[in-house]
Amino acid sequence: MILWFTPETYARLRLYVELCPSEIGGLGEVRPDEDGLVVTDLFLVDQSVSAAETELRPEAVLDLLGRCLAEGRDPAALRLWWHSHAEHEVEWSETDETTIEGFGADSLISVVTNKAGDLLCRYDTRGPHRSTVDGIQVVRPDPPLWSARAEALRAAVWREMVEKVSVVLQVRYPSPIEGQAFELTFLTRLDES
Ligand SMILES: [Zn+2]
Repeated sequence: MILWFTPETYARLRLYVELCPSEIGGLGEVRPDEDGLVVTDLFLVDQSVSAAETELRPEAVLDLLGRCLAEGRDPAALRLWWHSHAEHEVEWSETDETTIEGFGADSLISVVTNKAGDLLCRYDTRGPHRSTVDGIQVVRPDPPLWSARAEALRAAVWREMVEKVSVVLQVRYPSPIEGQAFELTFLTRLDES
């Protein structure tokens, strides 16, 4: 099996990863094609990202799945889960395994990538024949998206991130009581300017 991206969906993926200060993730639609599976659309999870929490919560991914289905998206096509490990290596973490187990679809394509552009892809099936095939070949589009479109897409992706992504900042202050500290949590939006 081969997974390939359209120029548009691959450019979106790279922009989400590049523009987000930390991890980011979402879902996507894949459709069968003569060469394998093609990624035809991507969706972004409403999420709070923080330096302390290094993985997306599985519940947030399932939330988005529920909303996409409620919007009338085709459940047969909605079986790509993508996320970025930001500066970290691409590998399947324990949280990733939990997300994949919890997904509930008959089959799921998972993609993990990072800012360096490394990319891993696996294919999981459920039911009586639970199986995992790791190391699925991914074909990047060639040529990439033409530059005028890429620029417009960059602005659109940033607007979407400003709307959907909050950044969690945790600050510890020393307390007047010995051995204790206040911890304040701030929820900020990405800057629209
Ligand atoms: Zn992960």
